[in-house]
Amino acid sequence: MAICKNCGKSSENITKVLTLCAECIRCADNDVLSEIKEVHIKSREKFGLPALPPYNQEGRLCRFCQNSCHILIGERGYCGVRRNEKGHLIGGTPKEAAVSWYYDPLPTNCVADWVCAGGTGTGYPKWAHQARAEYGYQNLAVFYEACTFNCLFCQNWHYRKNSKTRETRSAHELAEAVNSRTSCICFFGGDPTCQLPHALAASRLVRKQNQQQILRICWETNGSMNPNLLDKMIDLSLESGGCIKFDLKAMDQNIHYALCGVSNKRTLENFARTAQRISERPQLPLLIASTLLVPGYIDRNEVTAIASFIAELDPNIPYALLGFHGDFLMTDLPRTSWGQANRCLQTAESAGLKHVRIGNTHILT
Ligand code: SF4
Ligand code: SF4
Ligand code: SF4
Ligand SMILES: [Zn+2]
Repeated sequence: MAICKNCGKSSENITKVLTLCAECIRCADNDVLSEIKEVHIKSREKFGLPALPPYNQEGRLCRFCQNSCHILIGERGYCGVRRNEKGHLIGGTPKEAAVSWYYDPLPTNCVADWVCAGGTGTGYPKWAHQARAEYGYQNLAVFYEACTFNCLFCQNWHYRKNSKTRETRSAHELAEAVNSRTSCICFFGGDPTCQLPHALAASRLVRKQNQQQILRICWETNGSMNPNLLDKMIDLSLESGGCIKFDLKAMDQNIHYALCGVSNKRTLENFARTAQRISERPQLPLLIASTLLVPGYIDRNEVTAIASFIAELDPNIPYALLGFHGDFLMTDLPRTSWGQANRCLQTAESAGLKHVRIGNTHILT
């Protein structure tokens, strides 16, 4: 329970970290936006992450993501993993990435498991081992320990402790983790965006080393990458039977900024860019969208706007609405209720989407 410092409204759906209700964030003036900016800056201090994307014109430009950091010698970019050493930008390259991995038996709790080859057998026999969920096989889950966003509700926030680690792994080491039971690789995190050259190199290596094996390449991302890198991700997913899962966190610019600390402009552009390639492989969905239903903030207004955006591109794009539980700096918010989830489901369908589902139902109240 918190009180909006702008309008005085009191609600259990107002988080103390922002002390602003959704309505006041939507119509925020520059002063309110500055206060929101300070919340994000403060949240990064204890992890030693740069407060803001560095923009010193004398720094080296990193083009991996929308933040376009200009990094001076000895400094790091916003994600913390990319850095300028003696005039060279390093981090997230095929040689070294802050990354860890584990094996996840299929079918796994994946945001696309209701439509993908591993969860349903769609695409059998070319892209799946059987015409049903792939019991007996494994997903290689690859967790990149850095991110280009700063979400206050981040459910994987622990990665922030490892973004500056010296314990790095090469793309070769990652490629060696694939075994005969591996049938898909999911790059997530954090987010793979700030270390994409590493992920792309590992993907190419595993595809080359295991040419006869079903090995789908999938991505779970906030979608903020350089579009040229996105095109390479799409190529790999298309040819391997994999997919790209975009997390569309909010449509309203101010809500997105308040929750994630950055703009959603690149994400939306990249989503539309990916949608243009769906027709290249109609048998199996290439693009899946998801939205976390944050109580009080990601409500019917947001879901209507997101769903309309998706439907305009292609009403067949699968859309998963995910239940929220408090985490990181937003532990004071309640879990998503069934009421909120069902209202959002209806609104997404009314916007024209044909495949909508509620995920994480076990945490709904
Ligand atoms: S990946 Fe993005 S956040 Fe990281 S240094 Fe490059 S531009 Fe900055
Ligand atoms: S990694 Fe890809 S194929 Fe495997 S379960 Fe997830 S979405 Fe499905
Ligand atoms: S994009 Fe995902 S991993 Fe990155 S800060 Fe947001 S919730 Fe966390
Ligand atoms: Zn308010």
